[in-house]
Order: sequence, then structure tokens, then C-alpha cells
Amino acid sequence: MISIEEYKIVESLEEAYKLNQSRSNQIIGGMCWVKMQNKSVHTAIDMSNLGLDTIEEFDDCFKIGAMTTLRALETNERIMEFFGNGISESLCHIVGVQFRNCATVGASVFMRFPFSDVVTALLALDAQVQLHQKGIVSLEDFAKMPFDRDILTHIILKKQNIKMKYLSLRNSYTDFPVLAVAVSQTENGVQACVGARPQRAELVKDQGNILANGITKETAKEFAEFAANALSFGTNPRGSAEYRKHLCKVLVCRGLLALNGDDENEN
Ligand SMILES: Cc1cc2nc3c(=O)[nH]c(=O)nc-3n(C[C@H](O)[C@H](O)[C@H](O)COP(=O)(O)OP(=O)(O)OC[C@H]3O[C@@H](n4cnc5c(N)ncnc54)[C@H](O)[C@@H]3O)c2cc1C
Repeated sequence: MISIEEYKIVESLEEAYKLNQSRSNQIIGGMCWVKMQNKSVHTAIDMSNLGLDTIEEFDDCFKIGAMTTLRALETNERIMEFFGNGISESLCHIVGVQFRNCATVGASVFMRFPFSDVVTALLALDAQVQLHQKGIVSLEDFAKMPFDRDILTHIILKKQNIKMKYLSLRNSYTDFPVLAVAVSQTENGVQACVGARPQRAELVKDQGNILANGITKETAKEFAEFAANALSFGTNPRGSAEYRKHLCKVLVCRGLLALNGDDENEN
């Protein structure tokens, strides 16, 4: 059980940042993860007064505040119009609607959980994160950075010409994914992001130009094979490394064909 000595609703990000420098204090998002921990916190830092719970649209990007709930992102119509249903698809299997009405996007990205559907989908969309101290960094770099006591304030999605498809396989509907896959066609080419391997999500780009002449059943299969060989897979109670590698080939291939408007199952 978690025990909290003091609860502070902060008035500024600087106040939150200063309080968060003490290891005995902790930022609180939706508290869905934190409440399962067995620890004692001196000061719980609540940022819900800082206006970080909105999705703002600008000419060149969307800025998703850290306190935005998973459900608000899942159901945002402008995000869906712009990026398709990939983000919604990545979120809709996480526990249940009530849970997603509490859990926040900022905490989900900051924690970089290896099983994260959220990080897998956002990586494929070339997302950036805005940190109070370090400023804006790509999610691809952030995903590899060690944990520190900075605060994530926003996730930024640039309005580039991009298509993304999201697929995951779960042993039961709301369980953690056995494998999470997002494939996207960006202005810089095609890429696949594979999470829950069970390691942290990683991007594989089409460096060999396998898909340069278009996505066909043959090139989709070849790229899926390439992605599966480029990544490492591990075994945990949800699935073996061999099973995950096989799933990677199947899901990446399906995702690519779906990007192309061909939803026919390949395997
Ligand atoms: C039972 C269960 C099942 C889940 N299943 C899935 C799943 O299938 N797929 C999936 O992708 N996710 C899953 N999750 C993770 C979930 O989606 C959220 O990522 C998680 O609950 C954290 O969100 P929160 O807002 O509750 O964070 P909290 O519990 O409030 O905080 C989590 C951590 O993030 C830190 N933090 C919070 N906000 C910030 C910030 N802005 N900047 C810096 N640090 C911050 C906190 O200090 C804390 O250490 C699951 C979680 C649970 C509890």
C-alpha cells in the first residue's frame, strides 16, 4: 500500500519541479500505477491546476498536456481525423473506460513501460516530448534515456503527412499485450515500432528500401521478416521469444497491408 504524508496542489511547474527534486516526493498523474506500489511518499505533487489536461491544436502540431487522460486522447476527434484510428486502437484495450478516464498520457509516456501500447503508437507517429528542464526531445531519444526527476509537460505530434496502423495481440482482451506493433508511413519512409517484446518499444526503419517501390504482399512480408530479425525478443509468462518473433512478422505484415488499404490477413 502507498502512504502519503502531505498532498500539494502546485500553482506552477517550477514549484512542481522543485518539490520533485526530493526523492521522497512524487508527481501524481491519475494515480492508477502509483497506488499499486508499496511505498511511503512525503509529498504527493498534484499538477491538476496547471491546465495540462487539454489537447491543443496549432497550425503545425497538436500539443497533448501531460494530465490529459488516456480516454480523452482516445476519443479526440481532431486527432482521429488527422492520424486515423491508430491512437484509439492502441488505447482501447487498456483495462477499461473508467481506468482510462483516470490514467494520464504524461505518466504513461514518462514511465516508458516496456509493455506500453501508448509509447509504441506515439513512437510510430514521430512524437516529441516536452520536459520542464530539458525542453523538447524526440520520443525516440527519450525512450532510451535513463529515469531522472524532470517533469514531462506535453507530448507533441507534428502535423506531417503520416498514416499509422496499430495492432496488438493479447491473451485476453484487457491484459497487457504479448506484442504491440505500430507501422507508419511518414514523409521519411515506412517504419515499424514493436513493443512488449517484452523490452521497451523500438523503431525499425526501412533502411534497405524494401518498400521503396510500394507495399505489396511480397514487400510487406520481406520488411516484416527484416524487422523481426533486427529486433530482440524475450520470454515471459505471456509468451516465448520464438512466439513473439513469429507474431512480429505476422503483425508487421498485416499492418503494412492495412496501411495500403488491404486488410486481408496474410498468415
Ligand atoms: C492494472 C494496470 C494495467 C495496465 N495495462 C496497460 C496496458 O495494457 N497497456 C498500456 O500501455 N498501459 C497499461 N497500464 C499503464 C497505464 O496505462 C498508465 O500508464 C499508468 O497507470 C500510469 O498512468 P497514471 O496517470 O495512473 O500515473 P501515476 O500512477 O499517477 O504515475 C506513474 C508514475 O509516473 C510519474 N509521473 C506522472 N506524471 C508525470 C509527469 N507529468 N512527469 C513526470 N513523471 C510523472 C509518477 O511520479 C509515477 O512515478 C496499466 C496499468 C495498470 C495499473
